[in-house]
Amino acid sequence: MGTVACRVLYAEPLPEDLQGIVGEELPEEWQLDVVPTRDREALLQLAGGADFLVAATTPIDREVLAAAPGLRHVQHQGVGYDNIDVPACRERGISVSLTPEGTTTGVAEHTFLLILALYKNLRRAEAQLRAGGWPVWELRSRSFELSGKTLGLIGFGRIGQAVARRAAPFEADVLYYDPFPPPPEVEQALGATSRTLDDLLREADIVSLHLPLSAQTRHIIGARELRLMKPSAILLNTARGPLVDEPALVHALTSGKIAGAGLDVFEQEPAAADNPLLGLENTVVTPHISAGTADAFRTKMRAVFANLRRVARGETPINQVPG
Ligand code: NAD
Repeated sequence: MGTVACRVLYAEPLPEDLQGIVGEELPEEWQLDVVPTRDREALLQLAGGADFLVAATTPIDREVLAAAPGLRHVQHQGVGYDNIDVPACRERGISVSLTPEGTTTGVAEHTFLLILALYKNLRRAEAQLRAGGWPVWELRSRSFELSGKTLGLIGFGRIGQAVARRAAPFEADVLYYDPFPPPPEVEQALGATSRTLDDLLREADIVSLHLPLSAQTRHIIGARELRLMKPSAILLNTARGPLVDEPALVHALTSGKIAGAGLDVFEQEPAAADNPLLGLENTVVTPHISAGTADAFRTKMRAVFANLRRVARGETPINQVPG
């Protein structure tokens, strides 16, 4: 069944190669606008004609909604929707959906990238080799295997479970903490064991965050939690920066309370050049790219437009935000 012409506003500035991928999924007759910059005025102006809005990190707040009288649906191209004012959308009868397709795999794989980079001192080994060194012995006492270690997952939804699935072939043990645990058969199939948050922090060699940011979870990892971790443990954050109290993390990393951190997200993004976490020896940092692959983007766009077509046909969109 065809759909009537609709206007889609992509609320993130996109490089041309990615615009091409979006264009491939755009139904005939539909119009695509892409905000040219992060300038708020451009977004507000283009929102005026939009039926559908696709967003990633751009704040979709009351001001944007007021500028978009014809808006019917907001599609987050990922799953972390703390940038969208969902109650304000609901008041206007605007549906809000997520796009788990293409997100989960990238973040789960990135988690292992960070673990292995920290465990094998990748940054130092590579820098020394490129500088003419050959550090075969120097890093040995500070390099580790994932096999036999205990991975503690905070948040055991799509991504947490995908990480657990990939931990099995690495022969790591998996603990998790989640106030809304999955059914016992899922836990059993993934070989994961539930713990309280404090017990997980005490027992895990690797603590990895896979929960949403909300008023309740902001700074879920602070000075107290970092003190509970083993001095040999590493912390990974591929979820949202404000889940971690950054000054407390810097202190833990510089005073030997924990051994290292792998961070894809920061309290403030883009991260400031003088953010101390970027300068520490025992961190591995990436600029919020966990889910940022060409593979994921194609998968996401296919799912995004499948959902927009659903709405255009008058059907209920899938993957609406809970609540
Ligand atoms: P999900 O909704 O499938 O799973 C989240 C889990 O966290 C749920 O099981 C929920 O019960 C649990 N949870 C909620 N409150 C908790 C708490 N206080 N303590 C422990 N667990 C709690 O979401 P997902 O697809 O697994 O994604 C998880 C998060 O990862 C997203 O919210 C997003 O912020 C982040 N993310 C980051 C990137 C990136 O590029 N870095 C990409 C995708 C997602």
